Amino acid sequence: MRHIRLLPLIAIVLLGHPAASAQRGELRVLFIGNSLTSVNDLPRMVERIAGEAGWKGRIRCEAVTRDDSSLEDHWNGGEAVKAIRSGRWTHVVLQQGPSSLPSSQAMLREYTAKFAAEIRARGAAVVLYGVWPPRDRLPFQPAVTDAYRSAAADVGGRVVPVGEGWAAAWRRDPSLPLYAADGFHPSSAGTHLAALMLAEAVTGENLDRLAPPRRRAVAPAGVDDLQLETIHTAVAATRPSPAVPSIAITIDDLPTISVLGDEIERAERTTRELLAALRRAEVPAIGFVNEGKLQPSGTIEPRRVALLQQWIDAGFDLGNHTFSHIDLHRSEVAAFERNVTAGDHTIRRLLASVGREPRYFRHPFLHTGQSREVRDRIDALLSKHGYVVAPVTLDNSDYMFAAAYDRAGAAADTGLVGRIEAAYLDYMDAVVRYYEEQSLAIVGRPMAHTLLLHANALNAATVERLVSGLRTRGYAFVTLDDALKDPAYRLADDYFGPAGMTWLHRWALTADKRGNFAGEPAVPEWITKAANGG
Ligand SMILES: [Zn+2]
Repeated sequence: MRHIRLLPLIAIVLLGHPAASAQRGELRVLFIGNSLTSVNDLPRMVERIAGEAGWKGRIRCEAVTRDDSSLEDHWNGGEAVKAIRSGRWTHVVLQQGPSSLPSSQAMLREYTAKFAAEIRARGAAVVLYGVWPPRDRLPFQPAVTDAYRSAAADVGGRVVPVGEGWAAAWRRDPSLPLYAADGFHPSSAGTHLAALMLAEAVTGENLDRLAPPRRRAVAPAGVDDLQLETIHTAVAATRPSPAVPSIAITIDDLPTISVLGDEIERAERTTRELLAALRRAEVPAIGFVNEGKLQPSGTIEPRRVALLQQWIDAGFDLGNHTFSHIDLHRSEVAAFERNVTAGDHTIRRLLASVGREPRYFRHPFLHTGQSREVRDRIDALLSKHGYVVAPVTLDNSDYMFAAAYDRAGAAADTGLVGRIEAAYLDYMDAVVRYYEEQSLAIVGRPMAHTLLLHANALNAATVERLVSGLRTRGYAFVTLDDALKDPAYRLADDYFGPAGMTWLHRWALTADKRGNFAGEPAVPEWITKAANGG
């Protein structure tokens, strides 16, 4: 990793004033980290921003930083622990390098836990300052965020995912200079974005309320108004929002699925267009893979593996959807189990190349087992392999429209293609409205939904319009991780019937709420006919 030293080897910087007893409304923040904290004097920036943001009490930021140091180095060095013990901190902010490699992830978690015990013993909150990878390792950003999130989750602390803030800023303005010239340390703009996010985290203030002159007053010289606007928009985009109402997009049957067949050229076009549309829509997504499709003739084809690599390169997640899309309700349990474990060799390798591993499993046909015994046996296998079941609340029949769409496209019937797109978007709108009502009836409130789509040409053509329509209706788009934080997903599912149905109805049936499931939008008859080639 390139790392140009910007400060002397050991720079222990103590800012602010000697420890004084914490007063009501006073924030005392201790930063422990390396040059990613000390460069551009991040702690002082946080102090100034909090002051301008109208934080009523006093705020004091101090720091113990050493270049090139991990939390382990700080722990062994002793200065950081001494500083924690010597002040009445309200927050202690921990930071080390990107930590995307499994060994450094483990160290981050181990030493965060050690520090957390010291921090908690003094009544302060634990904050993890999630950083970013060097410029030449940008695809590792999700792994960096994962590492910091896990470390924070272990200790009930809070992560401030600054690297995600940088990524959000680059989605608006890819030329925004957040890196310094060495391609790793932050520029003053990069530190400013970090300071805004950290100031919000420790003060609880929403910096949207900061008037433009005040924004300008605390911004570094050299950041122009447009860039400042981009930075503030990125802070807002990364702000943890109430989990509802939101949607996580999950896409099944990767690499692609078409009624017309699996020719590589079609698969490449669909993948390219689907990924481009998802990126333009600026939504997170996870794709569920059937690895059997990588080897239609028995040997793995690199051009098909490359399709999955594109998902990784675009920053999306991948999960396991079994090797051959096997149906649990029509097969021996042992055969299903073999199909699960055979289903992740390639995605495991691809994800490992960016420091991640597969974490989600989606049952084909949403068939989860017709007895408690089978369901529990599969769940045990999944958790042994590190998988969490990916539920679906917004179930639908997109594949019917997709079949009609592919056939219309093959017949070069552009009029029909357009009508199918419009009918599909109307249908999906009705689907979301229907499940909105179901979530009010069953969960008692709007919720963080999980939307099932398939990797087909129709979704490639329409997903941007789908997303923008739902945004207009107030939906945020979140990762599957974030959606599953909605406590609704902890409701019991003891449905062992034959149907592959939405988790909303499983919860309702389990709780013996008969519920009124009527009104689920139907696929128009002309679509069904066109889908069947009629
Ligand atoms: Zn499927």
